[in-house]
Parts: sequence; C-alpha cells; structure tokens
Amino acid sequence: MSAAIKYKTSVFVHCNKSTIFNDLTNRAFAGDEDDIALLARLADSPNTLRDISSFPDIKRLDERLEFFLRENLLVPASNDETLDFIPHRVDIETCRQCNARCQFCPQSVSPKSRGVMPLDLFSLILSRLEGNTPEWVAFNHYGEPLIDPFFRRRVEMLRERNIPLTLFTNGILMKDDVVDFLAEGGVYRIVFNFPSLEPSEWCQLMQMPEQSYWKARRAIETSLKTNSNIPQGIVISVNGVTSTQARRAQGIKDYFLSFGDFQVRTVSSNSRAGAIQNELVQISSHSAWQGYGGCARIVGQLHISSEGRVYLCCQDYDQNVILGDIRQESISAIMTGPLARQLRAEMFGLAPMKRGRLCLNCNVLREGRFYN
Ligand code: SF4
Ligand code: SF4
Repeated sequence: MSAAIKYKTSVFVHCNKSTIFNDLTNRAFAGDEDDIALLARLADSPNTLRDISSFPDIKRLDERLEFFLRENLLVPASNDETLDFIPHRVDIETCRQCNARCQFCPQSVSPKSRGVMPLDLFSLILSRLEGNTPEWVAFNHYGEPLIDPFFRRRVEMLRERNIPLTLFTNGILMKDDVVDFLAEGGVYRIVFNFPSLEPSEWCQLMQMPEQSYWKARRAIETSLKTNSNIPQGIVISVNGVTSTQARRAQGIKDYFLSFGDFQVRTVSSNSRAGAIQNELVQISSHSAWQGYGGCARIVGQLHISSEGRVYLCCQDYDQNVILGDIRQESISAIMTGPLARQLRAEMFGLAPMKRGRLCLNCNVLREGRFYN
C-alpha cells in the first residue's frame, strides 16, 4: 500500500446517526459518532492513510481505518466507482399480468398485457448469473407469479442451482398444493400483499371479489402452519398509506398470531416514480441538481423483463429505461455499459442528474449521504 495513495469514502457509503450502509456490498454496520464523522470528512476530502492516522480528534483511528478498508468503506480516491455492480438481488418478470387491481398499484390504472417469459430465456438468465449467486431472486415486476404456467418448473430450476426465491404474491392463487410444493425447499421468504383483515376493506383496496379474499386468507393461514422453516420467514405487507393503515396492520397481527410466526410490515406505498398518483400513495419529486446520495438498485439489483431486456428498477413500471438485453450481452457488459455508468454517476452525486430522469420522481433516491 503506497503511502502516497489517497483514500476516499466510497460513494456507495451512506450513514444515519448510528448505522453505516454500503450499497455495493449490501452490508450494514453499527457506527459511532467518530466513525461517521471520519467517513463524512473523507467523503469531502480524500487523504493518505498516513495523514488520516494523524487526525487528532478521532479515537482508535488505526482500528477504524482497518475496518473501513476491509469493508470497502474507504477506497482509493482514483477508483472509478461508476463501473461497480454486484447482483445481490434479481427481479425476473416471469409473468406480466396480475389478477388484482390494488388501488395503490399502477396495475389498477394501467394494467399490463398478458405475457409469460419462455423457459429457455429463464434458463439463459440463470446461466448468465453463474458465479454470482444472488441473495435471492423474485419473480415479479407487478405481475402475480402464480399466474405463470411454468411457476413450479422455475422454482425447481432455482433449486437445482441453489438460488433462493423470495416470493411476492397476493396469495389468491396459492392453493394448498402450492403451499406444500413451496415447503419442499428453495424459498427464502414469502411476502403476501394483504392490506386488510376486514373483507370489505380488502375487496375495496384490492378491487377484487370477496371469494378472492377468502382464498388469500386461507393461503396465509396454511402457509403459516406449513412453511415454518423458511430462512427469512413470512411477511404480510400492509399497503396503502391511509389513516387506517396502522389499525389494519394491528388487525392482521392479532388474527394470524395463532397460525405461526410472521412479520407485519406497514408499507409506505409510493407513486412508483409517478406511475400512479392518488391519496393512497406518497408522491415525491426532486429537482435536477448535483449531489444526490444514491440508490441501491443501480449497484446491487438486476431487473429483467419477460422479453429479456434489463431495465432500470422496480420503480420503472413501464420499463422505459433499458440498460441492455440479456439475450445478447452478459450481465457485466450491461451493468458496466455507458447508460448504467451514467445513471450511477448521476444517482451517486458524481454528475448532475439530467432533467426528465425517472429517479427525480422517486422517493427511493437519497438527497444526501449523511442523514439522521
Ligand atoms: S400490488 Fe401486487 S397484487 Fe396488487 S395489483 Fe399490484 S402487483 Fe397485483
Ligand atoms: S432512485 Fe428510484 S427510479 Fe432511480 S433507480 Fe432508484 S428506485 Fe429506481
């Protein structure tokens, strides 16, 4: 390690008062005031290790520096970080349609047409991932994965490669035999979109008939009884930002408690970067300025359409921002291509964000890297 090399805080590092996050490695660490002060200082002013070691106001400096370097929180200042990408999570649009029309989802205002990813394309995607086993794969881009006629075969293909599945579903089509099939393995987490225990409220929010409510409710009950060994468990998402959201979540917590372990998440449903705008979703807008604090999607997540196109992210409902085509290029070539690099630079404050970018309407984009 040359004494002349200057180090900077990686652009992928962001911190709140007590936690340090690294978007590239997808890791989070507890940090104290001195850790965060040092990272903030080196984000603004890169310095050599020798000079950093003599900062008088930071305690246990050597220990901190060793940890920061080991975890890539500090990197050589000359590193071009726009080239960095690790696929921790992969969303594969196996099926475009959804059987529901949730009021907080763009499928309710602009439903997607039918479309199922061919199995040979699915297989190609998995082979493109070789050597890069993601933490998990999901079968979603606003489609309901259980509509897919190849659902079981795809799960088997993931099992053969030891790639875990996170299943996002509304549960309506999850009959008992599907629950049993999922219990055979390969599932990392199941997330049910179930916005209310009250049938009429559920029907109103999901815009579905009551018989669908009973099917979804039974799927959750049976899954909780049957799938107790899923590593990250079962989650029930309570969407729709209304004054009743906390009450709806509590009702769900109380009712399902007797069936098994699960988490309830109240979700800050958002406008999906402007794809849906109503009183059930939070709407965001940023101005086209320089210095944004980043977004984990462009450094750690891959999103592939049913036709094989790699698009920006889960907020890109209409898949307008195309980074490449998995049928023609490797993941690495796509995610280090000119558009991916430009977007990474804009999101992580290395270049001014161009007017009209989808991210400017997205609540996921961070406005800074050091926040409370
Ligand atoms: S939120 Fe999920 S279940 Fe509801 S319409 Fe959208 S994709 Fe379908
Ligand atoms: S900021 Fe929003 S729109 Fe931009 S990549 Fe992240 S999630 Fe997608």
